[in-house]
Amino acid sequence: MDKKRKKKTTVKHHAEERNVKDSPVSEEDKSKPPSRLNMIIVYFLLVILACWAAGSDFLEQQLRQPVHPSFGRTKTRQLSDYLSSLRGTRGDTDLYFFESRNPGGTLLVIGGTHPNEPASNVTAVLLVENLKVESGKIIVITTANASGFTATEPQEAFPKQFSITNRNGKERTFRTGSRYSNILDGWPDPVVYRHHPSGQLLSGPETRNLNRAYPGRQNGTLTERMAYAITEVVRRENVDLVIDLHEAAPEYPVVNAIVAHERAMDIAAMASIDLQMRGHDFRIEPSPVNFRGLSHREIGDSTTARVVLMESTGALQGRMRGPTNEDLVVSSVDACYYKAHLLGKLAVDFPEEGVSLEVRVGRHLEGIRVLTEIMGQFEPDKALAYSHIPDFEELNRHGVGFYLK
Ligand SMILES: [Zn+2]
Repeated sequence: MDKKRKKKTTVKHHAEERNVKDSPVSEEDKSKPPSRLNMIIVYFLLVILACWAAGSDFLEQQLRQPVHPSFGRTKTRQLSDYLSSLRGTRGDTDLYFFESRNPGGTLLVIGGTHPNEPASNVTAVLLVENLKVESGKIIVITTANASGFTATEPQEAFPKQFSITNRNGKERTFRTGSRYSNILDGWPDPVVYRHHPSGQLLSGPETRNLNRAYPGRQNGTLTERMAYAITEVVRRENVDLVIDLHEAAPEYPVVNAIVAHERAMDIAAMASIDLQMRGHDFRIEPSPVNFRGLSHREIGDSTTARVVLMESTGALQGRMRGPTNEDLVVSSVDACYYKAHLLGKLAVDFPEEGVSLEVRVGRHLEGIRVLTEIMGQFEPDKALAYSHIPDFEELNRHGVGFYLK
């Protein structure tokens, strides 16, 4: 019974198909456009357009940020000169040397450890574009985690860059990167990051955090190799003082601070007093002995250098911030943080007019100046003298852009 019904149905379908094939196509049907094909073509073109837009944006972020060194620069080396396996990778970066014929100490300034902390990178660039060393030697790294400058952080809605008007009225753009190395340089993250050599356990993405990777590992991940190479710079160049520049959220307890390894505590304490007497809020924090992987702890333990980390404050790093745009990066004006300040919820003052890039960069420059001066007072053979760098008042009077090429 079922078979008969099936047969009948099949015969009916064949007949219908024949009718369709045999039926003449009307003139009206001929004039209709092949709408399905058109839609496929339109979708295809839209996909190509989206890929082109996203791809060119992605590739643009891979380009290195230009820096224009001052006449005081004596040479430029690569981080890969200290660990050859970094050559050709996104982890390689420039080291700018400013050397004097007069004896003195050696300072290493590390900018851009966390590329989402713009005052760090901008301070280092300002140094490179203006510095002249009178005695001793200064080495500056502007993008310590160069890989992190090639991507922004997912889900943070950061602008990919921000602009500052320079003294010629032209826009100078800077990259707003990620706190971590580019995911393409470490994918996939482990579930748990085990710090080498201490074995300390942290969350998986911290495996790409340069300031959790020190002293680094010669044959480790890209981030570990960057950390290893920077530690090698300190060893091979006989660096006396390392200053690692950072920014932190206003609600973070270690902010507006100098975090000092115990060997650097003498100059950090004196610098903190000196800076506070000049009206700058610079508190002092001892480098935690049990928190591993940080520059001040690990470079301090692995070399003979004094090592400090300086934190200014910025709304960009905070969780209470409002709209995250270029203006927030540069001016740091944020109504939410001002309200939090009025309610006494922050670790530092956050005025209505914000904490501008001038204030944040000016603080870093003042910190560098006072720390080097005090090191020279404690150990005259390590005295450093340099010029052409604005002080806090000058920088705030003229603006950061005035000192950029
Ligand atoms: Zn940082």
